[in-house]
Amino acid sequence: MKYYSLNKQSPDVNFEAATVLGQAPDKGLYFPETIPQVSKELIKNIENYSNEAIALEVISPYLGDVIPKDVLEKIVNETVNFDIPLVSITDDIFSLELFHGPTLAFKDVGARFMSRCLGYFAKDSKEKITVLVATSGDTGGAVANGFYQVDGVEVVILYPSGKVSSVQEKQLTTLGNNIHALEVDGTFDECQQMVKTVFADVELNKKIKLTSANSINVARWLPQQFYYFYLWKQWQDKNNPPVVTVPSGNFGNICAGLLAQQSGLPIKHFIAACNVNDTVPDFLRTGNYQPKKAVPTISNAMDVGDPSNFVRIMEIFHQQTDELKKTLVGYTITDGQTRETLVSVFQDHNYLLDPHGAVAYHALQQYQMQHPGTKGVILETAHPVKFYDVIEPLIGETVPVPETVAEQIRKEKLSTKISADVNELKNFLVNSR
Ligand SMILES: *Cc1c(COP(=O)(O)O)cnc(C)c1O
Repeated sequence: MKYYSLNKQSPDVNFEAATVLGQAPDKGLYFPETIPQVSKELIKNIENYSNEAIALEVISPYLGDVIPKDVLEKIVNETVNFDIPLVSITDDIFSLELFHGPTLAFKDVGARFMSRCLGYFAKDSKEKITVLVATSGDTGGAVANGFYQVDGVEVVILYPSGKVSSVQEKQLTTLGNNIHALEVDGTFDECQQMVKTVFADVELNKKIKLTSANSINVARWLPQQFYYFYLWKQWQDKNNPPVVTVPSGNFGNICAGLLAQQSGLPIKHFIAACNVNDTVPDFLRTGNYQPKKAVPTISNAMDVGDPSNFVRIMEIFHQQTDELKKTLVGYTITDGQTRETLVSVFQDHNYLLDPHGAVAYHALQQYQMQHPGTKGVILETAHPVKFYDVIEPLIGETVPVPETVAEQIRKEKLSTKISADVNELKNFLVNSR
């Protein structure tokens, strides 16, 4: 399989180069030259397949022969080694729980797959690969955990001091080994700017092999298709495919779902559920794509004003907005609606949503009012405990902490403090080689 840059100014590459580069030299996102079709047999008899076998069938065509089959099997098995259950909340609304992985968010799937691929590619290289990433919360934990003890890969994570939740901070800072946490005296935007400056530094990039682990990397994007198939495996009413609601920020997750649908997976409709950062729902309503400055909300992983993966969605639909609208609708949900939904679903159905899941739930309810009789699924993208500071005052109860997290919270934080100065970052990178 070849990948082309959506900016069309860089040469086509294979999966390995697309993963190692992250982004094409012309700053475009990589996109597969064809969208493979899964077998009819898989769709018809999916209950008979193991999750590992499903994942292998879905991902193999995207890799071609860059990773031997036995190695890929091992990578896939380690990627999906936790439960992804479909749970019923009401007769018409189900939750696909994507938060049973090690850092309690769906980003574990992409991060685990990508880290293992990069580990394989680094094996034959004499040089170490350094993964550099800035995080506002969830990405850092998933990346740290995914890359922990992967040979040949060093990971440097920048996070804004005092601006991530305590659970998130412990997930970044307690691993040690090849994971280095830089606690930056600054904002997330400053962290991201420092990372961008370093990637653009030609001299430094001659000395150090740097790569990014952000969500536009094909090795994070493509495996996110897996759990849409696991949803179908657990879906009872096969004659009536689900409406799938995805809480969306950078639109990587929903873009993977749309890709799975194009590959033959039966999904009736997609709903992009956004908080007030609603550039894409706005586009679907007006036909006008207008990036906005991000506004902070209680579903903070979706505070994105110019979603990177939107260009991939347009490419899937050959730039035909009318075609896209036949499959995708968007909703804008306020923090007030998110809080109300979180409380009412807990009181009425004894199901505790996290704020991102609550955005999705409210969007699906609105859709169902306009389309009576439809059955839908929300993707529950994070465990509520990650947002206990928002949730506990709302429901007046403590959110139980899973044992794995409790253990991590007790561990000692290991971070290096730096100021928001790119020279300090460069020194760290050069000296820690
Ligand atoms: C990252 C994240 C999202 C947004 O996913 P995208 O792929 O960026 O649209 C939603 N919910 C949670 C909990 C997240 O961490």
